Amino acid sequence: MTRVVLSIGSNLGDRMARLQAAVDGLGVSVRALSPVYETDAWGGVEQGAFLNAIVIADDPGADEHEWLRLAQALEDANERVREQKWGPRTLDVDLVTCYDGAAEVSSRDERLTLPHPLAHLRAFVMVPWLAVDPDAELTVAGESQRVDRLLSELEAVDRDGVRLTGLVLRLGTTVEPEA
Ligand code: ADP
Ligand code: MG
Repeated sequence: MTRVVLSIGSNLGDRMARLQAAVDGLGVSVRALSPVYETDAWGGVEQGAFLNAIVIADDPGADEHEWLRLAQALEDANERVREQKWGPRTLDVDLVTCYDGAAEVSSRDERLTLPHPLAHLRAFVMVPWLAVDPDAELTVAGESQRVDRLLSELEAVDRDGVRLTGLVLRLGTTVEPEA
């Protein structure tokens, strides 16, 4: 059995429709959906703000490679074009961490690093994650750490840059266009 914590984000076009498309694509494996947050872009490229959320999914038949394949298929289905590293994108689906039963999966494959090497530096990952799992833990430098603690170690300006919206992702429905 594997459970995965996915970070989904969009800053191009109808952002909310893209996030909902990712949730719809994950279908019955979705276990929990975070609220939707708006976050100024990260990584130094001038671009529009992102909508971000966390999805927790579970599929007894999927391992971490299958989750990556699915994440990339969802990006492709949403016209993701890889033009610029950390540039604007219709849909980004990243694997934050993955569990095989109770054990957190570690991967150093060149196509897949788990846990995600930047998750503990990204308020837009940790804030939504804590909203669905206040006791979340993440292995950083070989040591399991509480995510609330990792978040508290960031600059206040990073945490404050992740703003709660009233937008709500739904299970098994279609979405109204973003206002
Ligand atoms: P980023 O998410 O860093 O902005 P991309 O979405 O373009 O960049 O992903 C670049 C590559 O990162 C992908 O081709 C994928 O193989 C690789 N990758 C490595 N680890 C992960 C992970 N944990 N989740 C998602 N992609 C990953
Ligand atoms: Mg990505």
